[in-house]
Amino acid sequence: MIKSNAASVEFRDVTKVYGKSPVPAVNNVSLFVEAGKLVTLLGPSGCGKTTTLRMIAGLEMATRGHILIGGADVTHLPATDRDVSMVFQSYALFPHMTVNENVEYGLKFSGFAKREIGDRARAGLELVGLGGYGNRLPSELSGGQQQRVAVARALVLEPQVLLFDEPLSNLDAKLRRRVREEIRDIQTKLGLTVVYVTHDQEEALAVSDRIIVMNNAVIAQDGTPRELYDAPADAFVADFIGEANIFDCEIASVDGQLANVRLGGFETQLDARGMRPGPAKLAVRPSRIQIRTVGAPSTIPGRLDKVTYVGSDLEFMIGTEFGEVFAVSSDVDAPFVPGQDVGVGFAARGPVLIRA
Ligand code: ATP
Repeated sequence: MIKSNAASVEFRDVTKVYGKSPVPAVNNVSLFVEAGKLVTLLGPSGCGKTTTLRMIAGLEMATRGHILIGGADVTHLPATDRDVSMVFQSYALFPHMTVNENVEYGLKFSGFAKREIGDRARAGLELVGLGGYGNRLPSELSGGQQQRVAVARALVLEPQVLLFDEPLSNLDAKLRRRVREEIRDIQTKLGLTVVYVTHDQEEALAVSDRIIVMNNAVIAQDGTPRELYDAPADAFVADFIGEANIFDCEIASVDGQLANVRLGGFETQLDARGMRPGPAKLAVRPSRIQIRTVGAPSTIPGRLDKVTYVGSDLEFMIGTEFGEVFAVSSDVDAPFVPGQDVGVGFAARGPVLIRA
């Protein structure tokens, strides 16, 4: 009943400067969102996520560059002429209208016959699991249910692109998880193009086909959740998505794809990732740090400063000549005690080179 008119979204060198601000809110950004995919804009407060989303909707106009939806240039089209719907953090439901009336509201301006409007609203509410709630007022629903009404209201318009601006921020942690899974289910079932803004990295990892990490008005990295987690481009991404130990290292030489990397007396070969000889950094996830016996081959000497039991894992702080190292082990019975000398090793494919 509700179908998808999913279209791609493209930015070509898009810049947004608000008023006379000396710094752009979005600085020369190019991106491509494939039709039928869910792409998240992730980053710290003020990095330009919402501005990017609002430029797709036409609620803000680009200062420079081009915006295309389904291959057509919409840069100068006002919001009302773009086939885009947005779901806001605040739900933005009309409090004096019933759930049905809220969902039907946008359809009334789209030229549909009365019967079609009713049928679509019903189908939209069924899709978000609120089939029997049409006659209630928003105030008679929970926060999660109100957000589902907002999603239904956007879906029934069958837009080319559906935009979500931090849709779960007003919900408690448990409900957040459930509603995000529902949004993802509906998106995959209907094959919708969704651009989703959040500053919650776990939420981004859980729902996205791709994540675009933004920092200071530019794209820091664009990739699948796994690519960003396993191979962050720089220390900002490594730290923003999960936790990471960052070490200064030296690329001694590069043979084709492989870099010969030196970290103190420790030498290893890693994927060069296009980098050249010279100073670089290594990122290693805490779960990829291995604690071995002191003096074991291919380890850095260290001393266990702290061992913390956190239920599912043991967490370790280890002092080394390269600084404090944070490690996590799911072996909660590992026989390590604070004060003990250990050898710090890396799991295979643990360390990745990142830009210095
Ligand atoms: P948050 O997570 O806090 O919502 P964000 O990543 O969505 O942040 P934006 O809201 O896009 O960031 O803001 C980017 C920059 O543009 C910030 O420096 C912000 O202060 C500025 N900005 C946003 N909206 C306006 C506006 N209407 N007028 C002037 N400056 C603005």
